[in-house]
Amino acid sequence: MKKTAVFRTLRTVWLVLSVVCLILAVIFLQIMVINKGKKTEDPAFRYVEDVRHRVLLFCSYNSQYYTYANQIEGFHDSLYPNGVEYDVIFMDAKNYRTSEDQSAFYNFFVSRMKNGKEYDGVIVVDDEALQFMCDYGKKIFGDIPIVFIGANNLTLAKKACTRRNITGFYENDYLEETLKLTRKIFPNRTKYVGFFDESAAGKTDGARFTIIMSRLTGYEFETINVTNYTKEQLIEVIKQVPDDAIIIYMTCFSDADGITHTKYEMTNFFKEYSNAPIVRCYEDAVGDGVLGSIGMSFYQQAKNAGETMVKVLDGADISRIHMALKTPSITEFDYNVMARYGITEKMLPEETIIINKPVSFIDVYGAILPSAGLIFLAMIMLLQSVNATVFLGRESNRELLASKEELEKSQKRLIYQAEHDDFLDILNRRTAVEYLRRHAIPDKVFSIIMVDIDNFKDVNETYGHQVADEVLKHLSYELENLAKTRDWMLARYGGDEFLMMLSGERVTEESSTIQEIMKIFRNPISMGDETIIMSCSMGVSLSDGVTTPDQHIINAEIAMYEAKQRGRNKAFLYSDDMKKKVREENKVKAKILDAMDNDGFYMVYQPQINTETKKLCGFEALVRMKAEGMYPGVFIPIAEASGWIARIGRITTELVIKQLAAWRDAGYMLYPVSINYSSNQLSDIGYVEFLKELLEEYNISGQFVEIEVTESLFLEKTEKAESLFAQLKALGIKILMDDFGTGYSSLGYLTYIPVDVVKLDKSLVDAYLVGGKDSFIRDVIQLVHDLDKLMIIEGVEEKWQYEKLREFKADIIQGYYFSKPISPEEAIVFDASDE
Ligand code: C2E
Ligand code: CA
Ligand code: CA
Repeated sequence: MKKTAVFRTLRTVWLVLSVVCLILAVIFLQIMVINKGKKTEDPAFRYVEDVRHRVLLFCSYNSQYYTYANQIEGFHDSLYPNGVEYDVIFMDAKNYRTSEDQSAFYNFFVSRMKNGKEYDGVIVVDDEALQFMCDYGKKIFGDIPIVFIGANNLTLAKKACTRRNITGFYENDYLEETLKLTRKIFPNRTKYVGFFDESAAGKTDGARFTIIMSRLTGYEFETINVTNYTKEQLIEVIKQVPDDAIIIYMTCFSDADGITHTKYEMTNFFKEYSNAPIVRCYEDAVGDGVLGSIGMSFYQQAKNAGETMVKVLDGADISRIHMALKTPSITEFDYNVMARYGITEKMLPEETIIINKPVSFIDVYGAILPSAGLIFLAMIMLLQSVNATVFLGRESNRELLASKEELEKSQKRLIYQAEHDDFLDILNRRTAVEYLRRHAIPDKVFSIIMVDIDNFKDVNETYGHQVADEVLKHLSYELENLAKTRDWMLARYGGDEFLMMLSGERVTEESSTIQEIMKIFRNPISMGDETIIMSCSMGVSLSDGVTTPDQHIINAEIAMYEAKQRGRNKAFLYSDDMKKKVREENKVKAKILDAMDNDGFYMVYQPQINTETKKLCGFEALVRMKAEGMYPGVFIPIAEASGWIARIGRITTELVIKQLAAWRDAGYMLYPVSINYSSNQLSDIGYVEFLKELLEEYNISGQFVEIEVTESLFLEKTEKAESLFAQLKALGIKILMDDFGTGYSSLGYLTYIPVDVVKLDKSLVDAYLVGGKDSFIRDVIQLVHDLDKLMIIEGVEEKWQYEKLREFKADIIQGYYFSKPISPEEAIVFDASDE
């Protein structure tokens, strides 16, 4: 979370920075465009709105002369913006040199001026034109102002300036500076060859070169007047220049044939036919092979002259303007040639213009560099913010994914919880049913087993819930282990019921599989000090290709109940007979339910006869249902199994107490009535209290009530049973042990159980009272008497039985011999003395 917050902030910062950079870039670009606009707005190109003056540019040579291009630029820049227009006339003195030529030119010029425009001033360029003006200017132009430039002949210039209307610019040479710089950059070259011609400028150059060089010591020099050579000769002369010399390229264009070579041609001769460095003392030629030059700026001189002319035309007094002797220089070097001679920029003056220098990136793009940089930065910032966005996206994706995983996890957990039993952590009933619906299908082979722990209720009551829970957990755990290794389905079906499905096999009651399950329940379980031994009842339903899954579950349950009824600790395979039985049971159950709600029970009373006196001495109360065909042997077991016996117990008890009251109220003497108490009634904790209240309500003494319990109640020495006995005793109620001799009976326990009367079961009477075995009955009677208890013999049907039992000193006889259970009306008046 913290990380995403940081990235969110960073993204904002990057975005803002990127926008700032972009804005700055735009501002820089704007500035650049404005600056560029300013530069292009060259004053010379401004539209001249008002042409105030017109001057004549009078040039000594022609437009091809090497100085012209720079000069005309200077004039342009100074005249035009100030409202001065100009015409140009070339004397072409290099080509027209003869006196005839000169007179022809004079005629042309005069006629041109007559028919031409009127000029307010003349600008004269170079010596020949200046000479012409000195000779004819006054005659042709009168006293209009004249400004000259490019004068090499100082005498002529000075002479011209003596006239009040003439001033100008002497073309000072930079030969001295040129040679000085040359010596500096080539300290090891001592040989100088100076080239000049016969022109005024050339002669001046040659003379100056000789003067300067001869002043120096340690240097050799040679002067070559090119006018002495034809072109071919000149080439040969140039070839003779040693490689370690330096060519000083001065004014040298006219050859012996009267040809004036162009500066380009001349430069080419030097470049082609010599390896010596070429240095020039004029502002030009660098770039075509000349190493470098220091020269007067023709542009600057022309511009200065133009400005002077403007000043004069605007009213300045020309006679007061002195001739300018010096015009600023320009130092130019060729980068390519420099490299050839190992000259570096550092060796040259700071203001040197280096041409042909490979333009650096900054030179070309310097102006847009800040903008470009800013745009680049903006892009990076943008990229970063995009990165951050991507990261955040990924992060939120991850969060989504995580929450999805969390969701899936909790969903899984929920599904798990929904499918499993909270307590035992095995599948629950619903899931098991669904599982069977999917897997216990007709074409499969399987066994479905319902397991119910026997007497689990008793564990609860005897050891408490905590221990019972532990026992249940332990058994479930063991079952689970077994189920896992065999790949069985195991589920908790009810409180202490498990449902299993064994795929691929059809078990039998005896199969090892069943025995293994049984064994889990039978193994002693240690709980602290106690060792608990359990058992289970199992019902099995086998695949048969027809039965539906739901029916399989019911069938397994039926078989399990059957196992319970047949004495527990057993496994039973379901059969269709069971189904019939269950159907009948269900009918019985419905009738019991109906009877409980609608007064459907009544009591019959079986007389008990004193063996000795044959007198009535009590009754056993036996319950009957009003519904047809419902015999105690049918409905009592079902009521017991369904847990309804406790309710029925209260109903019978109430009927008996009411009957006692009715008999009393009818004036009869009362006899004790014994009421059957099922061990399943132990759960009815309030039973004795209920009985006590009835006795009080109907004002019946406890001595007329006896409770018949079965020996199982004594075997399980539970607290509940003990408290039951104690409570009954407190009410003066006798306790009878019913069915003695069936079950687990050992005579020994009779010594410590709190019973007053023992009823010998009919089955023992039938089995032992016959010839030879009757001493057993006699011994039992004797034992009971020895323990100070009474003995009732049940199921006596024959006279001989009665007589024998009388002989054996049995206390009381109850049986069909005297009477079947009969109505209370018959019972209370029963007399057995006739039998
Ligand atoms: P039980 O407690 O052993 O009751 C004695 C049964 O033996 C009675 O059957 C009785 O009619 C029968 N009997 C008595 N003398 C003879 C005889 O000479 N020959 C033969 N063949 N049978 C004789 P009944 O009334 O059908 O009761 C059956 C069982 O139902 C009882 O056995 C008892 O366990 C249960 N039962 C009956 N009434 C109640 C009751 O009110 N409460 C409870 N909890 N159980 C009852
Ligand atoms: Ca009984
Ligand atoms: Ca009995």
